[in-house]
Amino acid sequence: MKRVGQRKAVSRPLRVGLFGGSFNPIHIGHLRAAEEVREAQQLDRILFIPAASPPHKRGHRLATAQQRLDMVRLAIAGNPFFRASDIELGRAGRSYSIDTLRELSQRFPHWQLYFIVGTDAFAEIHTWKEFECLFTLAHFVVVSRPGSPPVPLQRLLPVVTRRAFWYAANGLELIHRSGHRVIFQPITGFDVSATAIRHKVKDGASIRYLVPAAVERYIAQHQIYRGRSAAS
Ligand code: ATP
Repeated sequence: MKRVGQRKAVSRPLRVGLFGGSFNPIHIGHLRAAEEVREAQQLDRILFIPAASPPHKRGHRLATAQQRLDMVRLAIAGNPFFRASDIELGRAGRSYSIDTLRELSQRFPHWQLYFIVGTDAFAEIHTWKEFECLFTLAHFVVVSRPGSPPVPLQRLLPVVTRRAFWYAANGLELIHRSGHRVIFQPITGFDVSATAIRHKVKDGASIRYLVPAAVERYIAQHQIYRGRSAAS
């Protein structure tokens, strides 16, 4: 029997953030971005998805996919909202976000997906495989990144897709004809990159506080990013 004042529980789809990257290695810029997006977008969970073979990082010296996944796991340990996903490690060939989005939306049709990406990466979205389809499968949360000048969202969109969007009233969002949104979220800026961290390791400099302590230890123990050309 329903008591006076008792509310019926309203079930809503699980809101799941997807944070893809090479995570070579994961650093505080990634972690803080995920935390702020989780809070602002009221996400139930965020999956960190290391790319086994990142299409846009050819020429970068990569730690192995397993090492990058291990570092993600160490970095997020203890945060109940964060999970590491090995979904792209099980696939052969290049790791394309469209394949991951398709797989997740088929396996978990009740999830509402929020793809998290920095402005630098979003500015290149026209080079991603089947980029127009991405917007039919997930919301996008584009986070600010120091060094990437703030550009009106619509200018970041590839010209060919602009007709598929309109502005939301708040001016910080675009709405795709599928109903998915592209949201610009300013976040606390950490001018940190994995490239700079790899350079520091190679030069024997400290990376303390740029990555979680457990990740710093893992890099030292496994002697990652040390050798010649390791930092490129
Ligand atoms: P690299 O220096 O090797 O190119 P990276 O530091 O850019 O790496 P990635 O793993 O390529 O890290 O980034 C994954 C995602 O995280 C991208 O969408 C990127 O824009 C975003 N990102 C990375 N660093 C930051 C940061 N400091 N602040 C906000 N977003 C970031």
